[in-house]
Amino acid sequence: MRRTCVFLLACFSLAGQTLQIAEGLRRTHDYVSATSAFDKLLAANPSNAQYRVRFGEFFLERYHPEEAAKLFQEAIELDPKNAGAHLGMARVLAENYNPKANEAADKALEINPKLYEAHELKAQVALEDDNHKKAVEEADAALAIEPTALQAIAIHATVDLLADKESPWLAKIGNRAKGFETIARFFVLNRRYEEGIAYFRKAIAADPELWTAHSQMGVNLMRLGRSGEAYKELELAYNSDHTSDAATRNSLALIDTFKDFDTFEKPTTTLVLNKKEAAALRPYFEQEMLRAMAVYEKKYQFKLKRPVQVEVYPNHEDFAVRTMGLPGLGALGVTFNDVIAMDSPSGRPPGQFHWASTLWHEMSHVYILTLTNYRVPRWFTEGVAVHEETATIPDWGDRITPEIITAIRDRKLLPVADIDRGFVHPEYPTQVIVSYFEAGKMCDYIASRWGEGKLLDMAHQFAKNRPTVDVIRDELKMEPEAFDKDFLAQIDKETHTIVEHFKEWTAGLGELNKLAREAEPKNDDIIAKGRALEFFFPDYVEVGNPYLLVAKACLAKQDKACAMDEFGKYSSHSGRDATAIKQYAKLLEEAGKLKEAEAALERMNFVGPLDVELHEMLGALYMKTKDAPAAVREYEVLVALHPIDAAGSHYNLAKAYQAAGQKDKAREEVLNALEAAPQFRPALKLLLEVSGEGTPQ
Ligand SMILES: [Zn+2]
Repeated sequence: MRRTCVFLLACFSLAGQTLQIAEGLRRTHDYVSATSAFDKLLAANPSNAQYRVRFGEFFLERYHPEEAAKLFQEAIELDPKNAGAHLGMARVLAENYNPKANEAADKALEINPKLYEAHELKAQVALEDDNHKKAVEEADAALAIEPTALQAIAIHATVDLLADKESPWLAKIGNRAKGFETIARFFVLNRRYEEGIAYFRKAIAADPELWTAHSQMGVNLMRLGRSGEAYKELELAYNSDHTSDAATRNSLALIDTFKDFDTFEKPTTTLVLNKKEAAALRPYFEQEMLRAMAVYEKKYQFKLKRPVQVEVYPNHEDFAVRTMGLPGLGALGVTFNDVIAMDSPSGRPPGQFHWASTLWHEMSHVYILTLTNYRVPRWFTEGVAVHEETATIPDWGDRITPEIITAIRDRKLLPVADIDRGFVHPEYPTQVIVSYFEAGKMCDYIASRWGEGKLLDMAHQFAKNRPTVDVIRDELKMEPEAFDKDFLAQIDKETHTIVEHFKEWTAGLGELNKLAREAEPKNDDIIAKGRALEFFFPDYVEVGNPYLLVAKACLAKQDKACAMDEFGKYSSHSGRDATAIKQYAKLLEEAGKLKEAEAALERMNFVGPLDVELHEMLGALYMKTKDAPAAVREYEVLVALHPIDAAGSHYNLAKAYQAAGQKDKAREEVLNALEAAPQFRPALKLLLEVSGEGTPQ
C-alpha cells in the first residue's frame, strides 16, 4: 500500500495536477497526500467548480463537514447550476438534522432530475421525521431512475423492519455493507439500540473494513454500558481509519476516564458517580432513584427486570459524548434502554439545573421505553417524561419561558400527527424546546381530561407499533385534528393572559429592573409594579424576575411577612436561586416556621447538593425539629464536602449521631473534630458525654 502511494505521488509530481491522482490517493487511504493533491489541483484550476465538489465530497467522507460545506458553497458560487454541489450541501445539512437539506436536494433535482441520490437523501430526511409514506415515495423515485440504488433499497427495508414486518428488500441489499449500516442507524434513531447493533454487525460481516460501522457499533455498545466490547470496536476503528471521527476519539477518551468513577450496586439500582463527589451525591441520588421507581411501578403497573443504571458526569463534555450524532436536545440527561447518563449538578452553573427533575424524566423513559418494547414515538415518550417532572412534585420541572410564549403567540405549535419533526428537524432555533414543552402539555392535557391511566393505555397501544394518529383515534375517540383543536383551546386558556400582555410584560420587566437599580429605590413602586408583572406571567422565575425584586423591596421596608410571601411564590413556581431560598429559610426560621424552613431548603438539595452552607443550615434545622436521622444525613454530606471548618462539621455530625442514639459513631466523629482542633471545648465536653456509655467495639 505504501509503495503505491509513493509511486502515485511520484506520478503526481511528474504529470501535474489531475483529479485522477487526487482520487487515486484517496482510494489508497493516503489522505494527507490526497488533501495536498486536491489543494494543488484547486490552486491550478481556481474557477473549476467540479474539482471543488470532488474535494468537498472527500472532506465529507473524511469527517470534516465544515470544510466540505465551504467547498460546496464556493462551487455553487462559481457554477450555480452544479447539481453535485447542491447535493453535497444537502448532505452536509442532513448530517446536522437541518431541515434545509430538503431544499438543497430539491435544487439539485431541479438542475438534474436524474440525480437519484437527491431522492435518496430526501427519503432519509422523511424517515428521520417518522414520515414513512414520504420516505417510501422518495425511495421509489430514486429506484425509478436507478433500480439498484442502495440507499433507496435500504430505506424500503428500514420502513418494513421498523414496522416489525419481514422485508423483501433485505435480499436486494445483497452484500452491500452500507445498506445494513443505514438500517442500523435508523434503529438507533428510533431508540432500538439492540437491533441497531445487530445491523451494524451485519454491515461489518459484509465489509470488515467499514470503519464507520465499527465505530458506531462501539458508540452504541458504550451507550448500553458494555464498555469492554465497545472499546475493542472503537479502538479498531481508531487504529484503522487514520483520521477517524470525533465520536470515535471522544468515546475512547470517555471510556478511559471510567477509572475515576465508583459504582454502587443495589438489587434494583446501579449508580455510577465520580469518586470526587460520590459521598456527597450518593444519598440523594439513591433516594430519588428508589422514590421514582416506587411511583412508576404503581403508575405503569410493572416492575423492571434489570437494575437501572444511572451515570452522573461532572464534566458536561463527557456526558455530551453519549449524545453525539443524535438529534434533539439531550442537553441534561439521556436514556439508552435501562442506562441513564446525565450531568452532575457540579457540571452546570449553580441554580440552573434541577437534577432530580432530570432524573425522574429519564427514569420515566426507562419505563415507557421498556413497556412499549422501544416502539414509542418520540413525542409520546418525551411528553410523558416532561409530564412526570411535575406530576408528583409540582414545584419541580422547567417552566414556560418567553421563547415558548412567543411560539404560542405566533401559532407555531405543531399538530400531534407531525410533532415528531419538531424534535428532529427544527425549523427555528428554539423549536426543540418548544416541542418538549408542547408534548409535555399534551400529556398533561390527556391526563387531566381522560385520567392518568389513559397515558398508560396509549403506551400499550404504541407497544403494538401503531402510529400516533391511530392511537389518538382509538384511545381518545376523536380525530387528531379535533384533538389539536381542543388542546390548543386549553393552551390558550392557560396562557392567554401572558400572550396578550407579552409586549407590556417585557417592557415592564425592563422598567422594574431599572427601578430596582436606582440609588434610592422607590420600594412601594417596585412592589406594586412587580406584583402586576407576576400576575401576567407567574411562571417567570429567571434573571430579573419580579418575585426577588419585590422581596428585596419588602425587606428594605422591614416588612418580613411581605418578603416571605414573595419568596414563597418564587419557590412554588420552581425558583432555584440558592441565596434567595436560604434568605427565605432564615425568615421562616425567625418566624418560628421550622418545618416550612426545612421544606424550602430540602428543595435545594435537588438543585445544588454540593453547597456547604445549605447542609449546615438544613442539619441545624433538623436538630431543632428533632429529626436526628435527617440531621445525620445532612452532616455526613457536609463532612464529605470537606468544608473549611472541619472541626465544626465533625462536631455537628457527632451531635447528630448522639441524638440518633449512635454513640459509637458519635465518639468517632468527636475524635475527628478534636484531631482537627484539639482545644475545641464543646467537642471535649461532648467526648465526656459519649464516652463510657457506648457499646465497646
Ligand atoms: Zn427525554
